[in-house]
Amino acid sequence: MVIKILDLTRNFFKIRPEIDLQIKKIFDSQDFILGASVFNFEAHCNNYLNVKNSISCASGSDALLLAGMSLNLKHDDEIITSPFTFFATAGSISRLGAKPVFVDVDPDTFNINLNQVREKINISDKIKAFIPIHLFGQMTPLENITDELKEKNIKIIEDAAQAFGTHRNINGEIIKAGTIGDIGCYSFFPTKNLGACGDAGMCVTNNDELAKRLFKLRVHGSGKTYYHDEIGINSRLDAIQAVILDIKLKYLDEWNAERRKLAENYKNLFALHGLDEFITIPYELPGNYHIYHQYVIKVHNNKRDDLMKFLENLGVQTRIYYPLPLHLQPCFKYLGYKAGDFPVAEKLSNEVLALPVYPGLELNEQEYLIESMEKFFKS
Ligand SMILES: *Cc1c(COP(=O)(O)O)cnc(C)c1O
Repeated sequence: MVIKILDLTRNFFKIRPEIDLQIKKIFDSQDFILGASVFNFEAHCNNYLNVKNSISCASGSDALLLAGMSLNLKHDDEIITSPFTFFATAGSISRLGAKPVFVDVDPDTFNINLNQVREKINISDKIKAFIPIHLFGQMTPLENITDELKEKNIKIIEDAAQAFGTHRNINGEIIKAGTIGDIGCYSFFPTKNLGACGDAGMCVTNNDELAKRLFKLRVHGSGKTYYHDEIGINSRLDAIQAVILDIKLKYLDEWNAERRKLAENYKNLFALHGLDEFITIPYELPGNYHIYHQYVIKVHNNKRDDLMKFLENLGVQTRIYYPLPLHLQPCFKYLGYKAGDFPVAEKLSNEVLALPVYPGLELNEQEYLIESMEKFFKS
């Protein structure tokens, strides 16, 4: 048996006729960039996320960059983020000319430690923004810190690249990831839970002024074509990506629910096979609707790498998100961090292992995976 870490073909066939039809229409019209299909998708996102403005763009990385540009973040500004995330979160800060300031993460949720963020903003007055990540599909409980950040005029850009449709119950209200801060950023990279057929991304905001600015910044800073109010970038959504995303959006809640079901299966299987002493399953913070963009376990006693190889030999693919925390990446050497600065992130990078979790994954495949793990730990 071969179980891939991700197999996008599994549920594609179900929506293929719809997608083929829409793609044909795009080619018939020869209308490829922005246009009605993009505006249509943006309107549907406003509705789905319960937010006033959705501004699509060319990638999740660009969404983060555009967000920073629209908030006037620049040289010498310090921006707090997590060292335990995909590179683009911190990369976007450097692309603004600003300085990433890392803060360690929570060992259970893998999300940034808000107590340490609080300490940081109380000792430095150079902090201009905060980029929390809703890592692996579960939200950071931002309501615990938004007032303090607002008081200090520190902007919040949510990196919701792994969290489209994820939500959290905040004082009895269901709030979607990406809609709490000043701007939320999403990625529609093909492997994301809402994925395009190439690069794509989006910013959302309830602030109309910021939205106006973002709509301009994605087209070289021009309001009226060929008249430039400021210097923007070229970062737009293709019509073909928009129609695909718009079709997939209709199925997203169903697919996210299926991810949760798969997580439940893993939990039951680990218990059934008596593996709980060897690994720790993902923790879901109370109030969170975790969509398991990734299903990430912690492997105890330094066995992670051996387990990974063992599973690979039995046809089971797993992945490590992320093997080297950002403060230790060669490209961020100039920031002056060293090993030991963020012990939780560093420990996690040696323990985490992502298991296959995607719509269409079958129970018997999960069983095979868990039985293989049992062989590794118990024989
Ligand atoms: C995927 C991802 C991004 C970047 O998105 P792209 O569309 O690949 O540019 C940013 N942050 C996180 C946490 C991601 O997972």
